[in-house]
Amino acid sequence: MVDHSRLAIHQITFGEELPFRECVEVLARNGVTRTAVWRPKLQAVGVEDGARILRDCGMEVTGLAPAGLATSPDPAAWRAAVDDNRRALDEAAAIDADHLVTISGGLEQGSKDLEGARNRMLEALGRLVPEARRTGVRIGIEPLHPMMCAGRAVLCTLRQAIDWCDELDADDAVGLVVDTYSVWWDPNVARDIRRAGARICAFHVNDWLLDTRDLRLDRGMPGDGVIDIRNLRRLVDGAGYTGPCEVEVFSARDWWQRNPGEVVRIVQQRFPKYV
Ligand code: ZN
Repeated sequence: MVDHSRLAIHQITFGEELPFRECVEVLARNGVTRTAVWRPKLQAVGVEDGARILRDCGMEVTGLAPAGLATSPDPAAWRAAVDDNRRALDEAAAIDADHLVTISGGLEQGSKDLEGARNRMLEALGRLVPEARRTGVRIGIEPLHPMMCAGRAVLCTLRQAIDWCDELDADDAVGLVVDTYSVWWDPNVARDIRRAGARICAFHVNDWLLDTRDLRLDRGMPGDGVIDIRNLRRLVDGAGYTGPCEVEVFSARDWWQRNPGEVVRIVQQRFPKYV
């Protein structure tokens, strides 16, 4: 008997176009009971309807993504970003999400102030800690691969994310998201996952294609690339993580072009083999 008990599939694996309801229904039809919700899809359908669709399909929500992106040097824009994160926490609570997936944001056009960008995101997280406690939704901070540092995430190693957690000192409100795509290359990954320990609140899986064609939107399906996903899964398990393993494939040219039912079935074939 193949064990799918830890399988979750992120809505973004079906691309940006497939509407919220269709994403949830194709999973339910194929026996998948856990999903991560892509925030733009939820906002398109509305939080109330979204929550109802999830309930009707018996779907459990791991994370709501993405949030964060609070690095702006412009004080008004920074405050607006913090407010948007407050709203995201409320939305996450409304759909009973376990956590809010939070990436840091990158550098603004023309800015070279990397340290300032990092400080501003850390300060934003500090402001959001009481909001996470108020809503009962944990903030899951996710470092992205360093190639995303300029455009998307000045928080780009697990070690840096752990340091931020140390500084925030709010383990009840802030956890860590480990994504195979972002951490696999890191020579310190085993040590850092051990160090992350009980702070790990999510484990995202996908593969690194040897001839990757896009910085952000050419992730591979588990099994198609070079990442030893099983080894990373054993490491997070060894650190005490027992939660879902969430297949999250940003793939504009390949998987997003395929039939959603086919995508789910292939994930289900690959999962017991590679995760
Ligand atoms: Zn991820």
